[in-house]
Amino acid sequence: MSKTAETVWSNCLSFIEDNISTQAYKTWFEPIKAVKLNENALSIQVPSKFFYEWLEEHYVKLLKVALTKELGTQAKLVYIIKMENTYGNKQPFTEKIPSSNRSQVKDQEVDVPIKNKSPELKNPFVIPGIRNVKIESQLNPNYSFDNFLEGESNRLARSAGYAVANKPGGTSFNPLLIFGGVGLGKTHLAHAIGVEIKEKYPEKTVLYISAEKFTQQYIESVKKNNRNDFIHFYQIIDVLIVDDIQLLSGKAGTQDVFFHIFNHLHQNGKQVILTSDKAPVDMIDIEQRLLSRFKWGLSAELNHPDYDTRVAIIKNKLYRDGVEMPEDIIEFLANNIKTNIRELEGAIISLIAHSSFNKREITIDLAKKIVDNYVKHTKREVSIDYIQKVVSEYFQMDVETLQSKTRKRHIVQARQLAMFFAKKFTKASLASIGSQIGQRDHATVLHACKTVDNLSSTDKQFRKYVDDLNKKLTL
Ligand code: ADP
Ligand code: MG
Repeated sequence: MSKTAETVWSNCLSFIEDNISTQAYKTWFEPIKAVKLNENALSIQVPSKFFYEWLEEHYVKLLKVALTKELGTQAKLVYIIKMENTYGNKQPFTEKIPSSNRSQVKDQEVDVPIKNKSPELKNPFVIPGIRNVKIESQLNPNYSFDNFLEGESNRLARSAGYAVANKPGGTSFNPLLIFGGVGLGKTHLAHAIGVEIKEKYPEKTVLYISAEKFTQQYIESVKKNNRNDFIHFYQIIDVLIVDDIQLLSGKAGTQDVFFHIFNHLHQNGKQVILTSDKAPVDMIDIEQRLLSRFKWGLSAELNHPDYDTRVAIIKNKLYRDGVEMPEDIIEFLANNIKTNIRELEGAIISLIAHSSFNKREITIDLAKKIVDNYVKHTKREVSIDYIQKVVSEYFQMDVETLQSKTRKRHIVQARQLAMFFAKKFTKASLASIGSQIGQRDHATVLHACKTVDNLSSTDKQFRKYVDDLNKKLTL
């Protein structure tokens, strides 16, 4: 069978996947497309220049091993960087860069990199001397890198942020878009970058602004008929940080003005840092041309912190507040508030407050009460995965067994219980439950729910299973 770019690359991918973490694989390898195979040179398309740099810096060895396995020692790798040339010309263009492994690519055609820049625009309206006007950065000095604890969940965003802080405007992370759910540290990290830049480059004009405030200012400027002044003000900033950019959704006028400001800053090598509660692909009612700008640099996600990071964050907070707390309570908090660091901090603060107002020791019971207050509001959503895990653990089997096609009675029962609880505790449809629990159809799920209902009223032992599992799942 003759090799194609796809087959070669897919073999490389399975090798790579076995050798790095799932997260890293998803981030750095899934977006790559194999484009062309020319004898022993494989061309792959990567989404941005940053991507290429990152691969070269972190994965060049792994790539080489994988490729050599497939194509022999003469293997070559060519990167094709996909970029959107959005200055008028709608045609996407590519930039070819050979792998840094120069010895192996010297006979490779090297396309001259195309600069994605139009000639610098001189702005006739900038008032001379306006640079002397001091602009307050609006940064919160309490949000620093020092107290932004590192963990698997934020490593990429944090290190990209740090790189930007060291060389604002001078990396491929421009704009740097930090995205992630509520309370995961977007605002903190955005400030930290600004604070760090101010420390390293005091002469740079840094401005932090929420998208909401930006919008208000813009509307105000339209009312007062000084839209141009508004634009010019923003165009003299060296580092512009706009928080919660998703709030621009549906606001065409503000998007338009931001688009112009962004272009001006970007073209002049100024740094733009954005945060959003969604990835660019999921942003609604944001103009395409603006979305494509967001994708120019790096989009880095803040994920839910893992257990160790949660413990570290709690301890750091306690330390800074000069409070001591028993280890088991710290563990309890970390185990029960998982998806929002702001809530985690909130729980710690109320715990401290309660115990000092009432002159009571911080006990597990108090912690439980407080966590309940926090967690009930956000309504801990039990997932179908979690249900399957709890049910299979209870019956001492693994999830694959639970999902398997077997007709063995105790396994069928476990599966039916998982379906029953999925129906009870999630909003998922019967069809969706079926597809997640071993690829069954909606009728099977319906049947399972009825069977569980029947059995729990006729079979005492079965009733106990239901009660036990119910407790575990609602704990
Ligand atoms: P977001 O803007 O994503 O909603 P914030 O930046 O406001 O979240 O963070 C919520 C709280 O959690 C803040 O008090 C912040 O200091 C804290 N926090 C978030 N991430 C970390 C971290 N990695 N280390 C320490 N504190 C963090
Ligand atoms: Mg925020």
